[in-house]
This record gives sequence, structure tokens and C-alpha cells, in this order.
Amino acid sequence: MRITDVQALYLRLPEIKARTDSSQDALLVRVETDAGITGWGEVDGCPWVTKAVIDAPMSHSLVTGLRALLLGEDPLDAARLWSKMYESTLYYGREGAVIQAMAGIDLALWDIKGKALDMPVWKLLGGRYRDKLRVYSSNMFQFTPEETADRVRIAKDTGFTAAKFGWEPFGQDPKTDCGYLDAMRKAAGDDFDLMLDVGLIWDATTTIQRAHLFEPYNLAWIEEPLHPDDLAGYRRVADHITQRLAAGEEECTLRGFRRLIDEGGVGLVQVDLTRCGLTQAMRIADYAAQRGVMVANHNFTTDLNTAASLHFLASIPNALILEYCVEPSEISRNLAKEPFHMQDGYMTVPDGPGLGFEPNAETIEKFLVGQI
Ligand SMILES: [Mg+2]
Repeated sequence: MRITDVQALYLRLPEIKARTDSSQDALLVRVETDAGITGWGEVDGCPWVTKAVIDAPMSHSLVTGLRALLLGEDPLDAARLWSKMYESTLYYGREGAVIQAMAGIDLALWDIKGKALDMPVWKLLGGRYRDKLRVYSSNMFQFTPEETADRVRIAKDTGFTAAKFGWEPFGQDPKTDCGYLDAMRKAAGDDFDLMLDVGLIWDATTTIQRAHLFEPYNLAWIEEPLHPDDLAGYRRVADHITQRLAAGEEECTLRGFRRLIDEGGVGLVQVDLTRCGLTQAMRIADYAAQRGVMVANHNFTTDLNTAASLHFLASIPNALILEYCVEPSEISRNLAKEPFHMQDGYMTVPDGPGLGFEPNAETIEKFLVGQI
């Protein structure tokens, strides 16, 4: 079997709001083969840049677009092709956008392998430790504590046992923050996990002070209070707070996660499959397991990300919980022909061949944006 085409498809809502909400658009990767099998991947990055990284022609042997590298290759060789892409993009790659584009292709290659062998991807990753994942409702903070508490009630009423809230307008001052958490905890009751995603806005001292102040609200974790480059700050926070410290969604490589774990001291790494790919995510999870660190996914995009995350978290021993974005973007909700559903707080790991995701052609047609 040979790769015959690699395409980047950009879907976008008609109106994009200036919020930290990456469910407003989506970059899909489609890999075609001469066996008639199509693999699907996704990249949560900067869509036009991802598309350019895939489409670019070769400049020279260390600066090559990914499509040109893959045509004619065997799609079952995901690990070797990862190395080929990494080495052939060395002058402009190694981190960030190029690794994210590689991740989308890597997901599509695993999808092809599963379809070719008629097996679910979790089987190819070494077998599953569990057939369903506990899932949490992932939300943006609303603009008042009461509206945010309403979101907690909705999550609880629909069967979730955990919910996370993140980013603006949280974090501006201690009194307002406690007002939010108090309303959320009252709405949640005691038997419900609440997680906080701070959104990179504090320094280490502020984080330590707030974390102590927040102890009565029993947060299951505190996520990304600091800028991802402030590893010394993360280490200081990890050494001084009782809550679990979570981070990782900006990282794309094992190297980045090693720094977070070894230098930053985080207790939960959050791997976005659409930024790391499955080949590398398995190595990240293995490294985390060696260091006694738990793993969750990061997912604020589509059901393709959900599918990849389910296979990944099913196949590693140190999985904590599945993130599922409940922000109501039409692209997120309607992209899969058969959307994933939570039942009684859990999501079932797909059993069909490949990733278990097929896109809805109508959604692609409705939101597809043309060439630059
Ligand atoms: Mg986050």
C-alpha cells in the first residue's frame, strides 16, 4: 500500500470571536492510499500555517513540505515516517507548527493501519487497559459566577461527574475568584470533581497564595497557572501547593513533556493528540509512567480528537480522565457521522477498525474555507 495524497482541509465558523476557544475552526488532514483506504487526522494549531507546512514544496533536504515527503511511502510505517518528517524539516521544525502538522498526519496513518488490518487503534497500540474512560465536561468560564454555576448544574444533570472551567474572566482578584468557586462548589455538591484551568496569567507567588485560598473548594487539579516557559515557577508551585498541578497542552514533543515533568514537577500531563500524534504520545505516556505522573488528554476541538484520545487513554496504564469540550461550536458537534456520547459519566472506547471516526461530508462542505 502506498500514500497517494495528503490534504489539509480548513473548516471555519462564519464568525470567529476573540476568546480562547479553539472549537471555532478545525484543520483536518486526509491521507489517501492506492488501496482505497482513507485516513483522517486533525491539527489544533494555526490552520493556515499547518496547511502551508503540509503543502509546501521542497526547498532543500532539511526544508521540505510534508506532503512531498510522504507521496509513495508505505502508510503503515508511522514511526519511520515520523523520523523522516522530523529530519527533513530540521531547519524550520523540531517544535511547534511543524510537529503539530506531523501529528495530524500521524493520526491519519494510525487510522489507515487500523482500517487496513481491520482492528481498532487501541489494539495496535498494545491493547487496552480499560474499555471506557471517565469523562469531564470542559467549559469556558462564563461572565458571572451564577452563569458558571448554571454550567455546573447542566454538567451534573446530564450525567457528568466532573467539570473543568477555564480562562477569562477568572483570576483577576482573590475575592472575585472565590465568588466563582463558591458558586460552582455549591452547585456541584460534594460528590463532583471540579477542576480549574487558570489560563497562564499568574506568577508562582500568586499561584501559591491562591491555591491555599482555594483549598476549601477541593479542586481536583489546578491547570496552567503560569506561562509554559516558566519551569522554575512550576517547580516552586508544585513544591508548595496541595492540589495536583496540571500542564502540557502547549507541548508537542517528548522533550517538552520531559522538561515539564523533571524541571516543572507537574503531577498531571495533558497531551493533545492533535499536537503530538499517537506515535509520540505513547512515548510521552511511557516517560510519565516511569516518573509516576498521570496522563490526561487535551481536547478543545472535534470528535476526531475525542476518538484519538479515547484510543490513547485506553492503551496506557497511567490515564486519569478524558477531557470533552462542551462548548457548542457547530463544527465540533456535527463533524462526526456518529458523534461520541457520554453515558453515566463515561465514554466508550471505539471498537471498530481504525480510529472509529468518519467525517460528516455535509459539515465539511458547509464550513470548508477555500485556498489562501
Ligand atoms: Mg487548558
